[in-house]
Amino acid sequence: MANEKAILVDETKCTACRACQVACKQWNQNEGVETINWGSYENPPTLGSETWMRILFNEKYENSKMQWLFTKQQCMQCTDAACVDVCPSNATTYQETKLADGSVLKTVVTDPNKCIGCNYCRVACPFDVPGYSQKKKGIYRCTMCTDRVANDVNKYSVPACVKACAPGCLVFGDRDEMIARAEERVAELKQGGQAKARVYGKDEVSGLMYIYVLVDEPEAYGLPNDPSIPLGVKAWKALTKPWGAFAAGGLVIALVVNGVINARNRGLEEQYKLEE
Ligand code: SF4
Ligand code: SF4
Ligand code: SF4
Repeated sequence: MANEKAILVDETKCTACRACQVACKQWNQNEGVETINWGSYENPPTLGSETWMRILFNEKYENSKMQWLFTKQQCMQCTDAACVDVCPSNATTYQETKLADGSVLKTVVTDPNKCIGCNYCRVACPFDVPGYSQKKKGIYRCTMCTDRVANDVNKYSVPACVKACAPGCLVFGDRDEMIARAEERVAELKQGGQAKARVYGKDEVSGLMYIYVLVDEPEAYGLPNDPSIPLGVKAWKALTKPWGAFAAGGLVIALVVNGVINARNRGLEEQYKLEE
């Protein structure tokens, strides 16, 4: 993956100040969402059309002591994206933006004019990221700040969340370099006694554009240990490919996918309160 850009997230350096969360909202001109005290500093409780990233406050208990494990949550910008595979109207697609230094910013984007609001992307996503917004009529997620980065004006040439991160938890650069830095950091942490230290995002779902440094199992951070694209999504893709656009709107195919994802959907409906 030479010359692709990625964001390194070294969770061992995160202080949960949430400057990144605020910067993301500010740059993308997303509105504040009314929150309630639900017994955690973590707010808003889900991602949504106005909240493209948030910091998770995971609590880990060991020997009666509580330890925070903070996680930056947003769309992972998967190389092999379930949301792209499952989209019946081809509204969600890959986008490649060439940058001034010759590298490429690879993102997954949704065209609101083509989105039919079926929410299949939401149930197929291994990271439970996108959700259709009735208010904004579309699917909204992290854009890797393509608009800032592509402009390449000095002060705007890194994503807003990276720019705002004072402790140096977030770094933007060539993906190969971000992986090398993450592996170096993991070696350092292991030497310091953090036996579970690991890189996350290098190979998961064929590679993410967010590369994490963790010191515990991914699940302790609210991340799937082994994220994968549901088999039904793969089957759907194989089935629809030869049929092209005709199959995209086909009721039969929709029912196949619906059957596969139905159980998960039920759980998610309770978990998510989609914005109006
Ligand atoms: S994290 Fe989810 S929404 Fe983002 S690209 Fe991957 S599958 Fe799509
Ligand atoms: S890259 Fe931009 S859109 Fe994505 S989380 Fe960071 S600030 Fe938000
Ligand atoms: S700005 Fe950096 S340190 Fe603060 S919450 Fe975000 S990632 Fe963590």
